Amino acid sequence: MLPLLDDHKTYAILTDTTRCVGCEACVGACVQTYQLGNDRAWRWKERIDDLSSSRFTTIIRRPGGRYVRQQCRHCVSPACASACIVGALEKTELGPVIYDARKCMGCRYCMMACPYGIPRYSWEEQVPLVRKCILCYDRLKEGLRPACTDACPYNATVFGTRADMLAEARRRIAAEPGRYFPKDDPTIFGEHEVGGTAVFYLSDIDLGQVLPWRPNLGNEPLPTLTWAALSKVPPIAGGVAVAMGAVYWIIGRRMKLQAEAQAAHAAGAVKHDVEPPCTE
Ligand code: SF4
Ligand code: SF4
Ligand code: SF4
Repeated sequence: MLPLLDDHKTYAILTDTTRCVGCEACVGACVQTYQLGNDRAWRWKERIDDLSSSRFTTIIRRPGGRYVRQQCRHCVSPACASACIVGALEKTELGPVIYDARKCMGCRYCMMACPYGIPRYSWEEQVPLVRKCILCYDRLKEGLRPACTDACPYNATVFGTRADMLAEARRRIAAEPGRYFPKDDPTIFGEHEVGGTAVFYLSDIDLGQVLPWRPNLGNEPLPTLTWAALSKVPPIAGGVAVAMGAVYWIIGRRMKLQAEAQAAHAAGAVKHDVEPPCTE
């Protein structure tokens, strides 16, 4: 497991659902920054408010004017990174959990391991990739804030060091007693769950009823449990040496396919009209 990072040197987002008006400026900023384009009209949904391979953040809408932003939590001890046997997901020194497509072999263990059901798979691509929010790691390295938090006109989603975001959450709770859930002892969701995250929530409702996550998350980091579970999954159980041989063959093949797809795309020959299977 990674050594724990300093809360004063890593970054986090605080989302306060009581201030969110559902304008989706944050979603638009993310789409623009990462050129995600139009989302697909998944045939089994009337309205898109779930994450997808082309939406790293969304606003989940609920009756009563409730708007809850969904995104990767950038866990302090990320189960996705622990589950990835080729190191395609990585917890960085600044806090974001990022993804390296060049290493990914497409096993999707990360998707199974994530307690919040975050990563998506770009089935529509010839060589599918795992897709999720990267906490604007590229922008953070340049001293910029995440595009989504910069765009929010209501301070419903704000950015700072993990220590500062926890302090800001406590300040808001103290400033308005009775505003947040539960009223007698408001929770900063993400402070402790599964070892803590870098995306915190304040809300006046029980977010467990809105955001999809595994029940009874607990406060223990999941990576140890993840490995206990994955050790029962072939090819891991079959031996690391055999598994790694297969892994490098798969990665090599993926890279070859990716190069071919890029060449075909450059030649204008790629079609994106294949209906992906139902996975979300
Ligand atoms: S929320 Fe899921 S995808 Fe994001 S860092 Fe945590 S385990 Fe990984
Ligand atoms: S932090 Fe960056 S990548 Fe993540 S949702 Fe916001 S804009 Fe998108
Ligand atoms: S920009 Fe702010 S207010 Fe608008 S949807 Fe996003 S979080 Fe809510």
